[in-house]
Amino acid sequence: MKVIVIGAGFGGLGVALKLRAAGHRNITIYERAPEVGGTWWYNTYPGAACDAPSHVYSYSFAQNVEWSRRFAPGHEIQAYLKRCVLDGGLADAIHTNTEVSSAVWTGRHWKLTSANGRTDTADVLVAAVGQLTEPAIPPIEGLERFAGPLFHTARWRHDVDLTGKRVGVIGTGASAIQVVPAIALAAEQTVVFQRSAPYVFTKADVEYTEKLHQRYRRLPGLKTAARQGIWAYFEMVTAAFTRFPGVLSALGRIHRRVLRSQVPDLQLRAKLRPDYPIGCKRILISDDYYATLSRTDVTLEADPICRVTEVGIATDATLHELDVIIFGTGFRTTSFVPSVAITGRGGRTLADAWSQRAVAFLGLSVPDFPNMFLVYGPNTNLGSGSIIYMLEAQADHIVDAVDQLSQTSARVIEVKAATYRKFLVDIDKRQQHTAWHGCHSWYLDEQQRDTHNWPWLMSDYRRRTRRVRSSDYSITAGEDQTARMDCCSSSPCQRP
Ligand code: NAP
Repeated sequence: MKVIVIGAGFGGLGVALKLRAAGHRNITIYERAPEVGGTWWYNTYPGAACDAPSHVYSYSFAQNVEWSRRFAPGHEIQAYLKRCVLDGGLADAIHTNTEVSSAVWTGRHWKLTSANGRTDTADVLVAAVGQLTEPAIPPIEGLERFAGPLFHTARWRHDVDLTGKRVGVIGTGASAIQVVPAIALAAEQTVVFQRSAPYVFTKADVEYTEKLHQRYRRLPGLKTAARQGIWAYFEMVTAAFTRFPGVLSALGRIHRRVLRSQVPDLQLRAKLRPDYPIGCKRILISDDYYATLSRTDVTLEADPICRVTEVGIATDATLHELDVIIFGTGFRTTSFVPSVAITGRGGRTLADAWSQRAVAFLGLSVPDFPNMFLVYGPNTNLGSGSIIYMLEAQADHIVDAVDQLSQTSARVIEVKAATYRKFLVDIDKRQQHTAWHGCHSWYLDEQQRDTHNWPWLMSDYRRRTRRVRSSDYSITAGEDQTARMDCCSSSPCQRP
């Protein structure tokens, strides 16, 4: 079987590495960026780091003992992925600077075309393009008038020196709270434009010493135990998010204490108090965000932005004069796989299939899109923990599907429509019990449905994806073969 993977981030590389380990050689990976790494290649803003502990933010089959800190910086994670590629013998399979623009199911194969005109065919297509890839720039009045540089955190302009500049940062999400402390160290003035106050807890980041590295090298079991301990903690937190959101209110009380201890200024503290239930947006962690906002050269602007002018950003009451504007405004998340036009059976496009709502069985498969699997598809995000766990579960599922196709005369695998419908009903029911409602967030689509998060436990996901079951999928000889078999079984067979 020839497998084409679109995307060389954690998701796509994980599938390719596991396919290789299972003995599948015919794998091609297309990546639009010049290097592998996905989100860790694109997000190079100062301060970019993981907010899941590195012990769990790595593949189970390629555990790293060399992390410099509990929460590794982005460039280390990118270097780790490059090493995985080399160690896994994948380098030759990867074509960078190649953006797949369309994929069409021909009845037997997927035919891919890239933006630079290259074409290719695959027996199995894996779309691993990520959920947080297309930067969202809000349509604020007057943006085009601003005289200085403006850019998004995920498209950092390393050629713009912020030293001694007046810098405005719009947004207070996971990216902004990492970049603001780094900017404030260099800038003359930093203004943070906040629309909603996030819940920010202490990160408790620590450096990993050489002594600890040596200990992990000598006793690999220690590393595995650390990994499993962190996983078990996150599974408990996942239970709170998905089953007992009321438990999270205790965290809300702890947050009030965090604010009291870290923000002495009463006016600033009032602005930083979130006004929505804890958990419905991502809970953030930082050791220096609140301290940075308390600096005299940093201003937190909580009034709504009215417009951008040639010289800065205006609210109703204030014009903040700025040299640079940075958007920490997140990503366009509601249209999954937006950059590839995917056409399945009968000319049905994925965009059509998802015009009402983006859903895939276990986040992986959609009826009418045979031999296609998504990685980090709809409803596979987590509110806490490491997404790598979910990506590995998806990779195992895909490897099992490719194994089944390779080891039998079957050529086409497709999720059954009834399975897909039942999954949709189940997920609708389950989502009523989760914490991800009650505020505006990137998890929700226009109808306020959560199209991003997995509403059960992480272990449930692992269990449900472990095997490709014939009760869920139809696994057949293929459309052209089926047609021929039908023809030959009815006599007399009229040849055209
Ligand atoms: P985000 O969480 O979506 O945050 C976007 C921010 O921009 C929010 O504060 C939002 O305010 C604000 N915003 C959006 N439009 C605005 C407007 N028109 N005017 C003013 N403010 C506006 O995006 P992100 O920070 O890039 O993070 C996205 C996700 O990436 C995270 O949830 C996380 O999953 C992932 N991430 C992970 C890490 C990591 O360490 N592993 C680091 C960074 C990001 P509202 O809250 O009011 O909408």
